[in-house]
Amino acid sequence: MDRTHLQALTALVGDARISTRPDDLTVYGKDWTKAVPNPTAVIFPKTTDEVSRILRYCHEHKIRVVPSGGRTGLAGAANAIQEELVISLEKMNHILKIDPINLSVTAEAGVIIETLQKAAKEAGLFYPVDLAAKGSCQLGGNIATNAGGLKLIRYGGTREQVLGLEVVLADGTILDLDYDLRKNNIGYDLKHLFIGSEGTLGIITKATMKLVSLPKELRLTCMASASFEQVTKLLGLVNFRGIQPTAFEFFTHECLELVLKHSKQRKNPFQEKSPLYVLLEIEKQPEGAPDPLEPFLETAFESGLITDAVIASNSAEFQNLWGLRENISESVAMEGHVRKNDISLPISSLPGFIAEMQKILGKVRGVQMFLFGHIGDGNLHLNYSGPFQQNYDEFRSITRDTEKEVFELLKTFRGSISAEHGIGLLKKADLHYCCPPEALTLMQKIRAVFDPHGILNPGKIFD
Ligand SMILES: Cc1cc2nc3c(=O)[nH]c(=O)nc-3n(C[C@H](O)[C@H](O)[C@H](O)COP(=O)(O)OP(=O)(O)OC[C@H]3O[C@@H](n4cnc5c(N)ncnc54)[C@H](O)[C@@H]3O)c2cc1C
Repeated sequence: MDRTHLQALTALVGDARISTRPDDLTVYGKDWTKAVPNPTAVIFPKTTDEVSRILRYCHEHKIRVVPSGGRTGLAGAANAIQEELVISLEKMNHILKIDPINLSVTAEAGVIIETLQKAAKEAGLFYPVDLAAKGSCQLGGNIATNAGGLKLIRYGGTREQVLGLEVVLADGTILDLDYDLRKNNIGYDLKHLFIGSEGTLGIITKATMKLVSLPKELRLTCMASASFEQVTKLLGLVNFRGIQPTAFEFFTHECLELVLKHSKQRKNPFQEKSPLYVLLEIEKQPEGAPDPLEPFLETAFESGLITDAVIASNSAEFQNLWGLRENISESVAMEGHVRKNDISLPISSLPGFIAEMQKILGKVRGVQMFLFGHIGDGNLHLNYSGPFQQNYDEFRSITRDTEKEVFELLKTFRGSISAEHGIGLLKKADLHYCCPPEALTLMQKIRAVFDPHGILNPGKIFD
């Protein structure tokens, strides 16, 4: 970007809200993935009108931009590696309205999810999208990636919460779809195109999201289980008993050991080692109603689905058990190089798929696997890890060959290569494993309608 453009953009927001400082370019030029950030500048609009004027200018002058949220993305979708202008939403961080009758919250896109959750709680309500990155990720980023998270099994993911959106299109047009309506059949529901579009169709500036009543007190059990077959049967038992889980998560013993190594405050609740652990969270029953958890655990023991179980009896134990699951991503990052796969399957296909996948993984040398995730949603996080001393290209070559084999297998099960993290830069070469060519062509045409000059997050999802 030449000096004239920089001056014109500076005139739109003032000196204090545009930066070319190397440390800002490094920080705002990348997400959690490995990348060499290379933006030309970072701009911090405060209003939708400013976003509109910035985009109108960029559209006219064909300046490429990268919308930037909390940069916790795991697919490289917020990486600016081709001298783009980064548009950070972090200063658009106001909660505008909480409506306890409509059960909704309207907020600017840069609001941090944890802040949104706290504001809802203060109003006696609950915002149910919950993820380990909640302290940094933003509402706009969650919408642009259609974030799933820990409570999807009960409340749905981000898409299910969106009532309305305000979006600025590539040419600066402000598209006001910010309705607060539960029912609204007025032709194509355009807001859904922006959900999960990874910043390629427009910049989300405001959203109205559903809220729900505060959950009752929560009960949490961690169960040890011998195999994936038992774990899927365990979920079947949960369904059969009419238990409504607020979370059903799993991790392997290797993940547990890793978290205990890197998060010293976490404690192993079990004496005996087990291949798999499952966290089941439910709401406490109203006073006087029978507790479903203990009879459930008894049946699970008797039928051999679990070998051990603990129930959190106070808030420290509750936090400890959740910490064992929530600290896995951070612990893997501390351990060495990481390659993350985020796949999904029909839940009933998981045991068959995993048995075949283990054969592929069993052949790999020099790389460790950490398997965990939202198994109640059929979502597995497969993290490949290699020591930092290992040459990265060598690590990547081993993991690349393996992931191709895993994706081929996944295709035969009609699974998805991206359950929730998105495609970004990292997975676009693999999109063909689960996206039919006809669908890809339609997506490319849609993108061209919304952004004819291709200035919005170029190179993300597809070229
Ligand atoms: C420890 C950890 C745990 C995680 N757990 C989960 C999980 O359980 N479930 C899950 O789904 N994800 C998870 N993630 C991934 C990540 O948190 C999500 O993808 C999140 O939604 C990204 O939000 P963000 O604000 O950080 O977006 P960013 O990383 O900044 O951006 C992500 C994408 O959204 C675009 N974007 C950002 N803001 C806007 C906007 N206002 N308008 C248009 N486009 C925009 C960017 O251009 C980019 O394409 C986890 C990440 C970490 C680090």
